Amino acid sequence: MIMPDLRVLVITGAGISAESGIPTFRGKNGYWRNLDPAKLATPEAFEGNPSLVWEWYRERRRIIRAAHPNPAHEAITKLAQTCSDFLLVTQNVDNLHSRAQHGAATIPLEKIVQIHGDIFLTRCSRCDWHYYEAEQDGSELPLCRHCGTMMRPGVVWFGESLDPLQIARVETYLETRGCDVVFVIGTTALFGYIIDWSLRGAEGGGQLIEINPDSTSLSRFATRLVREPAGIALPDLVDEICKGVCSPGNCRPSL
Ligand code: NAD
Ligand code: ZN
Repeated sequence: MIMPDLRVLVITGAGISAESGIPTFRGKNGYWRNLDPAKLATPEAFEGNPSLVWEWYRERRRIIRAAHPNPAHEAITKLAQTCSDFLLVTQNVDNLHSRAQHGAATIPLEKIVQIHGDIFLTRCSRCDWHYYEAEQDGSELPLCRHCGTMMRPGVVWFGESLDPLQIARVETYLETRGCDVVFVIGTTALFGYIIDWSLRGAEGGGQLIEINPDSTSLSRFATRLVREPAGIALPDLVDEICKGVCSPGNCRPSL
């Protein structure tokens, strides 16, 4: 059943994939060989030691290939099918959102913005040449077959700009009209644009629901705080919304 006029924005971060076994950057398994991911995921680290950075990304690709979407990813797929208007903005570079099914369906690609890129994309550091390695990785340092420059993972590193085309997709959704519900799930919300999009999405009376075991910089703006792991909390919350219990007008914020 499609809920008419239910406009939803979902913003996710690494925490939603934690229950699938993919470490967050800031969690207890975040460090890799004693190295801080926040320093590895930078242009400077790649310039200084591309082999090391590629090794880290290939290991993460292997973990993600072997992982499965969890009930939180599946609940979001259900939400995408139920709402008349839906956009998912994920900071995750894994592909668990696009693999998560509800029934046999997945979220249509046009309803997902991967704002920090895609870990399975390998792209040239200089020209437009790129390819996907969703199934298997090479082991060499990849060089561009067109210009000979080193290829890099197709993700946005700390200190780099976002892709303007992806920003425009979010802005277009936000400019159309306010959302009834904004979910912010599993992100420390350290980036200004994540806070900005969450608040603007809920402007005009929409609910802002944060799902995160810990508090974040967004918590004080939330109309509802859910301090539980996403895989536990989200399926029930989505059911609540899909049944209309929490449809606009009859849902009181609960803190
Ligand atoms: P983060 O690592 O900074 O924070 C993770 C957040 O998730 C924390 O606030 C934590 O309290 C919360 N969390 C942990 N377990 C949770 C659970 N089971 N349910 C709900 N919340 C839970 O992640 P970030 O804010 O997304 O920022 C880090 C950057 O690194 C982002 O760009 C992110 O996409 C990227 N990253 C991506 C992946 C991935 O693609 N899976 C993994 C690690 C990092
Ligand atoms: Zn090139």
